[in-house]
Amino acid sequence: MTWRPRPPAGGRVAIALHGKLADQGRWWHRAGFALVPTLFALSAAVLPSPAVADDKAAAPATSDDRLVFPASVQQGAMVLGKVPPGSTVTHAGRTLRTTGYGTVVFGVGRDAVGPLVVSVVRPDGSREEAGIAVAARDWPLQRVNGVPAKTVDPPPAIAERIRREQARVAAARVRDDARADFTQAFVRPVEGRISGRFGRARVYNGKPGAPHSGMDIAAASGTPVLAPAAGVVTFADKDLYLTGGTLLVDHGHGISSNFLHLSRIDVKVGDRVEQGQVIAAVGSTGRSTGPHLHWGMSWFDVRIDPQLVLERTP
Ligand SMILES: [Zn+2]
Repeated sequence: MTWRPRPPAGGRVAIALHGKLADQGRWWHRAGFALVPTLFALSAAVLPSPAVADDKAAAPATSDDRLVFPASVQQGAMVLGKVPPGSTVTHAGRTLRTTGYGTVVFGVGRDAVGPLVVSVVRPDGSREEAGIAVAARDWPLQRVNGVPAKTVDPPPAIAERIRREQARVAAARVRDDARADFTQAFVRPVEGRISGRFGRARVYNGKPGAPHSGMDIAAASGTPVLAPAAGVVTFADKDLYLTGGTLLVDHGHGISSNFLHLSRIDVKVGDRVEQGQVIAAVGSTGRSTGPHLHWGMSWFDVRIDPQLVLERTP
């Protein structure tokens, strides 16, 4: 673990309550938010036991006009919030898609600085803003040696190929599907030692590169890769220059997963995949020093930390 603010015992985030507690505990609990101990103690008596989040379960018992967002998030977080159904919600220059139950989601970048502002216009025209603090994290340097020299200093023709391939992947991240697969409690796509963490500044063979955009899990070549949550396959190519076998699964509302360096891809673009389904196999294709799965997540073009998405689950 490398981030600076240690989570409080028994909970990770404080919940900004723009209203009273009654009724609302059920929604967060099902949505996978950990509650701070005080709130937990207050609400434990009325909360059901933890359940896998899905958007139907997230339906509030009664309609209300409160906004529910965490008071504070870490850099790289996926943030779930709740607004009155039918509201118009904007954040970071985007209008957020809302589910029929008023669930919204967005990502917080590695270098985001708070407070974040979410603006809400309710169906009756009333306006409210939620402010969310951002806890900064440490990003230690990671030196990666022994990658093929041609992947660190590519010749011009290869650099052009890399640009083209990255543009194709970027295009797959533009979609904003109505599916709310992101409300599931995410599971690890493979078991194994974490060999690279999100956000670390990286130096490849001594040359500074982009920060690490996901989480690396060491596993033997051929190990099945499971879908961490349901979604739709939006990109599949077994031979990209830097990332090798590359697969993207879209979880709705701009949230997507990418799986890199694969030795095999078992699904094709347009396929619906369910959580836990085998979608690919671990490999060491592209710029890689050994067999591992690189699992990245994004909110549109904002990279988010899969580890925080996993920890969101009680
Ligand atoms: Zn990686």
